[in-house]
Amino acid sequence: MLDFSQDVFRLLAPMEPPPAMKDDKLRITHAQLRPLYAPDIAKMKQVLASLPPDTDQSFKFYHILRNMCMSAVVSFMAEEVVPVPNSAMLISKLRLLPLLHLAIIIALKTKGRSLITSSYRCVDCGKFTIFDLDPALPADDVESYRRPMLDYAGYYAPEYLDEPIGIIRHELATPHTCTTHDNKDTITVKSLSIIPPNIGDYTQYSREDGFALGEIAAIFEGIVSINDINESETKALKKSIGKEKLFRMPPHEYRQLIKKLEPYSAKAEFSYDCAHCGTTNRDRTLEPTNLFDFLTA
Ligand SMILES: [Zn+2]
Repeated sequence: MLDFSQDVFRLLAPMEPPPAMKDDKLRITHAQLRPLYAPDIAKMKQVLASLPPDTDQSFKFYHILRNMCMSAVVSFMAEEVVPVPNSAMLISKLRLLPLLHLAIIIALKTKGRSLITSSYRCVDCGKFTIFDLDPALPADDVESYRRPMLDYAGYYAPEYLDEPIGIIRHELATPHTCTTHDNKDTITVKSLSIIPPNIGDYTQYSREDGFALGEIAAIFEGIVSINDINESETKALKKSIGKEKLFRMPPHEYRQLIKKLEPYSAKAEFSYDCAHCGTTNRDRTLEPTNLFDFLTA
């Protein structure tokens, strides 16, 4: 059972630092957290208001979670006592689920209840399982609501950085022909090998030009090989084609590519057992039902 009066929390799954921080070989096992205060929440509202209007809902969600963690994580620790440097950088590299896990604990620490209430309808019995912990509920209910919440934090959230994602190779259904900037060469793109941008990359690139263009820029940045040529040749080729021409492919072709990268970015799917009939509901997408209510309340 998690004790929310403490400042130091054991992470339910240890985290490997992202590759850029791998040198110290630390396994992160604990996080020191503080509650959120009014200025933190004001800052989150500001971040929300500053996002490009076409920003996808799940990316907005990510932004807020990341900001919650940026404010509330005092430090990460290895083996309980050794503070890990660069907490902010680590947070910026985390995927959605570990962020959500941390955010749930921060919310519980801040208010004694989750600020993130979500309910999911069971495919089998049709009843709702609510992920929340609200002390205002009658005592009998608290236990039944509390269980799925803690189960959720315990089993579904900590898909940390244990499994390196590596490079995703995507073959285009229809090879795509484009010319270089000087119009001297023609290249037929058959395959792309990409290090999937993490959700922080997408959001960073979408800051100025809006989400759709940011998405293109983030993916372009992640391309390490075109047609299986080596990395330095690819770098030169990317420069001579540019992202505009490279992605001037039929929309359905681009969508296939996005679909392939999705599992590594925003679309956090999870399974849960129904609190009423026990049926396992698979491949559910996170629904941050009242997160924005909380922020604007
Ligand atoms: Zn059910």
